[in-house]
Amino acid sequence: MSTATPGRRRDDVSEPSQHRSLHQTAVEQFQQAANLLDIPEQHRAILSRPKNEVIVNFPVQLDDGSWQMFRGYRIQHNNVLGPFKGGIRFHPDVDLDEVTALAQWMTFKCALVGVPFGGAKGGVTIDPSAYSSDELQRVVRRFTHSLGANIGPEHDIPAPDVGTNSQMMDWLMDTYANMSGAGLRQMVKGVVTGKSIACGGSAGREAATGQGVLYTLRHWCGESGMRLGDLTFSVQGFGNVGSHFARLAAAEGSTMMAVGDHTATIVASSADGIDPNELAAWVQANGGVKGFPGADQANTEDLFSMPVDVFVPAALENQITEDRARALDCQVVLEAANGPTTPEAEAILAERSITVVPDILANAGGVAVSYFEWLQNKSSRYWSIDDVDERLRTIMWDANDAVVEKRRELNCSMREAAYAVALLRLDDVYQRRGIFP
Ligand code: GLU
Repeated sequence: MSTATPGRRRDDVSEPSQHRSLHQTAVEQFQQAANLLDIPEQHRAILSRPKNEVIVNFPVQLDDGSWQMFRGYRIQHNNVLGPFKGGIRFHPDVDLDEVTALAQWMTFKCALVGVPFGGAKGGVTIDPSAYSSDELQRVVRRFTHSLGANIGPEHDIPAPDVGTNSQMMDWLMDTYANMSGAGLRQMVKGVVTGKSIACGGSAGREAATGQGVLYTLRHWCGESGMRLGDLTFSVQGFGNVGSHFARLAAAEGSTMMAVGDHTATIVASSADGIDPNELAAWVQANGGVKGFPGADQANTEDLFSMPVDVFVPAALENQITEDRARALDCQVVLEAANGPTTPEAEAILAERSITVVPDILANAGGVAVSYFEWLQNKSSRYWSIDDVDERLRTIMWDANDAVVEKRRELNCSMREAAYAVALLRLDDVYQRRGIFP
């Protein structure tokens, strides 16, 4: 802190590391916005670190009878606006740094779109494709048990993320319910969102992130004078978010020109583009886009140089590097993934006048509908898909309006404006509540 007594250690979140940490990047992102505003040092310091860090190691029996130890994380970044909230990721690269960054992004995402949640993220270091469904069920149940009272419907509410799905959320809910006393068992459905509809999930949750990305794109079109029906786009990642976005965008008349995932990159063989519905069926059957007969096979980097209006990263962090930022031939990068653009790449995109619509805005539709699911679980009254879509549209529209207005006011990037809107909300609550004790 700027006024620290000499000799006292200054707060510093950086860990000694060869590499730039993702958490460090996440902190720098909000600090950059804080520098444009009058945010007190103590509020910045609180937001620079997660509130709680839970790390568990647990054994699971595999189908062949052997046992394997797994490591799981739940990082609870901030809960000043409401219960901790955020997904659980199953991926081989999950580590403390990644989950901490993802947890911080959830705090700002929830604050930005005005859902009354804080930020958290969880993960297990595992390649889910290498395990049977029975094994994954045991991993989910044992991880849930290990987290114990660290999660709860009024405390910390997980959801799906990369490598997890509604089936896993059903197992999580069932495990937590069975760990609760008989009198509470029916009241704890809201311990997790993204469940199947049969188990208390919300209509529209599965497509919600992709739907929110589309609403954001529609808003951007309104600002930039483009028409959704005339747009071309490319997508990196064809999982839940990428595939739903692509289908919804194609239904509006946009054309998908290239797709890349962990198996291959494919490009359209004509100006008619790639059919997202046919591709989704292929991916479901084959595990990836590789070999899809409705497109040409290409090299990984071709995805990034294909001329399109909109590039949509919908996979993992740090995918848009400096070289790729130089190669991109688009007007806008719409961040459906969390943290897909490195800060160095973002500077290059800015120089090239390519707009970056930031993750905490573009992909907030998922957590918005998670909030609806949580409300429905509390009231045991379930909403129609039309109700869900209308409320999601309103939330996304208002958040986009707020960011565009803040960007004009501060004359800054969309990312800085999105952080500024979120920060002002967080700061206002800290000002009013004060810092305990
Ligand atoms: N994992 C999603 C995200 O990164 C959704 C989180 C949630 O619904 O809680 O936003």
